[in-house]
Amino acid sequence: MPLNEILVHYPLAFVVIAGLVGLLVGSFLNVLVWRLPKMLEREWRGQAHEILGLPDDTPQPTYNLLLPPSQCPRCEHRIRAWENIPLLSFALLRGRCSACSTPISKRYPLTELACGVLSAFVAWHFGFGWQACMALLLSWGLLAMSQIDAEHQLLPDVLVLPLLWLGLIVNSLGLFVPLHDALWGAVAGYLVLWSVFWLFKLITGKDGMGHGDFKLLAMFGAWGGWQVLPLTVLLSSVVGVVIGVIYLRLSRAKNSTPIPFGPYLAIAGWIALLWGGQITDFYWQFVGLT
Ligand SMILES: [Zn+2]
Repeated sequence: MPLNEILVHYPLAFVVIAGLVGLLVGSFLNVLVWRLPKMLEREWRGQAHEILGLPDDTPQPTYNLLLPPSQCPRCEHRIRAWENIPLLSFALLRGRCSACSTPISKRYPLTELACGVLSAFVAWHFGFGWQACMALLLSWGLLAMSQIDAEHQLLPDVLVLPLLWLGLIVNSLGLFVPLHDALWGAVAGYLVLWSVFWLFKLITGKDGMGHGDFKLLAMFGAWGGWQVLPLTVLLSSVVGVVIGVIYLRLSRAKNSTPIPFGPYLAIAGWIALLWGGQITDFYWQFVGLT
């Protein structure tokens, strides 16, 4: 029996494979989340120097997603292949560098685990097929973006925009919603938050959110059609306000501290894509009954 038939007939096999692939992808996302912001900052510095006509920075060593190879930030011990197996290596090393025993951040195994669980879940939700494969790509992108935004208040175009185009492309083949809905979803998603941004700025004179947030909502519109937008905005505001208030209380940060909205939007949009229909139906039934 060919592999694709096995995966159709034994959904559990697909879930397990997706989970294992997810662990490996999670390991790559750790590299992406750590290195991409640094790569972008380098690029921007270079551009700023060029525009201002300043002499170039001293030449810097190559730095991209592949080079230099991963190493311990403290003792520069090069991470060997067996030390880079998702979850397993962290357990075998007991969370410490094999050379200098510096503790390794728990964030790395947690990202791997989250990615594995998320991937298995997406595989189970959609079953084997193109929908699941594309939803996996989207979920991995969202996981990376959320972490980068939470840490750097930055939603990199290089992640958001390709996923926006991909949403339109997959829906041009009718994978999730008709192309017409996807197109207007992308346009409306951008305009909604753009309007909120300018309204907020006119009233308070402050920036309430980043431009990356407009693009992220546009991306969800491209994947799920304009229909997912109200629920996404509603859910993200609820989650954002709750977590934001707790965060401000805990950190005693000033109210003007920008809180990254991206992760809430990412969580809300993902939920709306997977269960938007059911949630909306439930809501109308609820309203109808009361
Ligand atoms: Zn070390």
